[in-house]
Amino acid sequence: MQHRATSDRELGDTMNEKNDRAAWIKAGDAQCSIPAKPRALPPRLILLGAPGVGKGTQAELLCAGLGVCQLSTGDVLRAAKCLCETERTPAINDALSYMKRGDLVPDDTVLNLVRERMRCLRCRGGFLLDGFPRTVPQAKALGELLENETIRINAVLNYTLPIATIVERLSGRRTCANCKAVFHVSARPPRVIDVCDHCGGKLVQREDDRPEAVQVRMAAYEHSTKPLIEYYADHGLIRTISAEGEPERIYERTLAVLDA
Ligand code: AMP
Repeated sequence: MQHRATSDRELGDTMNEKNDRAAWIKAGDAQCSIPAKPRALPPRLILLGAPGVGKGTQAELLCAGLGVCQLSTGDVLRAAKCLCETERTPAINDALSYMKRGDLVPDDTVLNLVRERMRCLRCRGGFLLDGFPRTVPQAKALGELLENETIRINAVLNYTLPIATIVERLSGRRTCANCKAVFHVSARPPRVIDVCDHCGGKLVQREDDRPEAVQVRMAAYEHSTKPLIEYYADHGLIRTISAEGEPERIYERTLAVLDA
């Protein structure tokens, strides 16, 4: 994969600074603030790993490094949460109630959100799917959607970490209420407490990072998401990466795996 090329890195830096991913977050006719540049070999990746394993941070680093968009279904749902009551459809309200409890949103609802955003999967700049697919039925449905477009996934990156470390990471995680950048109170602290380094927004603990929701999310992961590892292993796509240590070291490991 040609992800180390300087031009890609520069493209990634620019996108990280400014791209609002409007096509993914808002769907419909929304245009991204920085349209992707078509590439001969667009990186098309899926990130897997338990909640708290550091996927979001790696997604940020990979987006900056590879110049691809992070397509997170969790971000779409969180953006819907900010809509006023009159703008929310009953289906979205239903989805948000699952999310608040830490439960997985039903497959049909998530798949409809993704179908409305097919443009982003067709993007010639590539993509990084984060938090989708989350169940084997979602993975099969995604496989069909991509096959219809003759698009192939390059690799599925599976981040692994012991459970005690996961719980520690989740309890200290803070997210920017404005730009969604991810920090950690000890492992990746912001320069100023509770203030985002990138946009000055307020750092908050996600509702579903609270202890009672974390337990439900871990159970959902064990039951629904772990079988995905086997599913993608059968497709020869799984690349397992240890998520121990500093984000930058994990990122280096990820690039080494992609290079290999
Ligand atoms: P995330 O930001 O990926 O951790 O997602 C936050 C929450 O959004 C999850 O705990 C689920 O409630 C919901 N969610 C996001 N993506 C999916 C998905 N692919 N399938 C089901 N629920 C999802």
